[in-house]
Amino acid sequence: MKRETVLIILSMLVLAFFLAKMFDSGKMSSGNRRSQELIYSDFKALVAAGEIANAQLVGDSLIEGFTQDGLGFRTYIPAEDPSVIDYLRLYQIPINYVPEKTMPWYLNILINWGPFLLIFGIWLVLMRRMQGGSGGGGLFSIGRSRAKKVEPSEMKITFDDVAGVEEAKDDLGETVEFLKDPAKFRKLGGRIPKGMLMSGSPGTGKTLLAKAVAGEAGVPFFSMSGSDFVEMFVGVGASRVRDMFEQGRQNSPCIIFIDELDAVGGSRGTGMGGGNDEREQTLNQLLVEMDGFDGMEGIIVIAATNRPDVLDPALLRPGRFDRHVTIPLPDVKGREEILHIHAKKVQMVEGVDMSIIARGTPGFSGADLKNLINEAALGGARNNKTELSLADFEWARDKVMMGTERRSMVMSEKEKRNTAYHEAGHALVSALLPKSDPIHKVTIVPRGRALGLTAYLPENDNHSYDIEYLSNRITIAMGGRAAEEIIFDEVTTGASNDIQQATDTIRNMICRWGMSKSFGPIVFGSDNQFNVLGRDIGKDREYSEKTATEIDEEMRKTIKYHDEKAKKLLRDNIDVLHKIVEVLMKEETIEGSYINELLKQDQSKVESVGG
Ligand code: ADP
Ligand code: ZN
Repeated sequence: MKRETVLIILSMLVLAFFLAKMFDSGKMSSGNRRSQELIYSDFKALVAAGEIANAQLVGDSLIEGFTQDGLGFRTYIPAEDPSVIDYLRLYQIPINYVPEKTMPWYLNILINWGPFLLIFGIWLVLMRRMQGGSGGGGLFSIGRSRAKKVEPSEMKITFDDVAGVEEAKDDLGETVEFLKDPAKFRKLGGRIPKGMLMSGSPGTGKTLLAKAVAGEAGVPFFSMSGSDFVEMFVGVGASRVRDMFEQGRQNSPCIIFIDELDAVGGSRGTGMGGGNDEREQTLNQLLVEMDGFDGMEGIIVIAATNRPDVLDPALLRPGRFDRHVTIPLPDVKGREEILHIHAKKVQMVEGVDMSIIARGTPGFSGADLKNLINEAALGGARNNKTELSLADFEWARDKVMMGTERRSMVMSEKEKRNTAYHEAGHALVSALLPKSDPIHKVTIVPRGRALGLTAYLPENDNHSYDIEYLSNRITIAMGGRAAEEIIFDEVTTGASNDIQQATDTIRNMICRWGMSKSFGPIVFGSDNQFNVLGRDIGKDREYSEKTATEIDEEMRKTIKYHDEKAKKLLRDNIDVLHKIVEVLMKEETIEGSYINELLKQDQSKVESVGG
């Protein structure tokens, strides 16, 4: 709620208070404001003494009047003395009667309810704060849409600002043509989808693309997040949806962008959000609105989600969000282009090769890459540089990829040695196995939550892997723990992540990719089982208890096999393992190439001894 609203409520209360006071004193006759209050017995005595000039009965418990000296007075009649009028008559004092002045009803309400209103107001403010609501709206505009509008003149984003998503751009080209001139399209009788769903990981540029469509077509851009619809008051979400579409209709042709569609559009009746009526109403309103225009009006609704799997199927029916655009994470080429786009804004030395950075950032989203450039600029500024070099970008990549270095974290000597053997174990196994990603760096400088890290530099982005590569990955994952076990005969908790990763890979190999010799090419359980959120986990399991046990058994065997393989590799090359650890303890970070060198030296030594 806006500060103004609070102020208005507060001043209304203060005003009411004073008004009430006035009416309270207004019970007295006018001009008699300064009357003195008399004790009833004194009053009676004054009457008896002939001191009272006149009296006026107000209601049935108050007497006001003047003394012979012209002074005003008032007194209250006790309930046990109804005979006062007779008493005054007795002394021949003129009396008149006026009914009690009562407060108007609205003041009464304000006085009685004001404090509650105030408390309610404060509570509202607090609730908003807690929800992180950005202010805006206020008590009187809760039901109104808070869609943000960007005018065509302010929209600077075009397709040139988006890279690495060529297919999506192609898909959207037609939409741009339509928005530029809906009438032309209408004449040609072209059918244009009115609802488009973009799905993809966070930061892949969904919002950016939607903006670019508006920018290319030169139409207004309305945006709102699905989570903005879901409020604490029932009915608010639905009315906001209605309002947003109303705004759209008044400004067509235009784009309405709904981010986080899954926040309103999660499938109904799955127990997500505990059967939330408000969300369901909002979703229904959205469906009604989507059905309510025919797409020829020049409104295109673009929704984004990173959980297309949880969307209510009703949303995806023809006439609603029936066009589906998937926005993938960028590949090497795409990453390089995105880096170029964002690097334009910083000063660089001549000839920085962005392809090197692109190669070392698999899995980075567009937003991550933007962040990388930003970190490089911040780091450079801290070191008083005027131009950024490749090293700055590499440093920034490591920082973004592995979290900030925590050099200050104190590690005991024993912990450090443990970590060194663990990381050396991963690295050595990896270096010994053919068909595995080259090692980029091994470090025992703690980063983020990890004590140490071995980073790889995949040559290209693989989208499918063969059995050998996957099996090697499992062996490498087991390598860290295996080294600790060989050397210290005990393992630390640092290996839990590795075990998790190995287990996941094995389960996928058996259950999804049909790579197990004993089971063959068969898929156990449907995909849903792997990305459950709110869905009944057991429901999709389509195999028996017996099969489940067999799968468990197979997984145990596979883990054991790889664990032993890793240990054998390490035992056979234990000298190199010690050597790597020695260097790691001293330098803390070593390059992947150095490990290969150590290996080569060791092998030539063996050859010269043997031969
Ligand atoms: P999403 O909506 O998918 O979560 P955004 O569009 O909000 O992602 O992306 C956040 C920022 O990251 C964008 O403003 C842009 O600067 C950058 N970005 C993301 N993807 C790309 C891309 N493909 N090309 C250029 N910049 C990108
Ligand atoms: Zn590890």
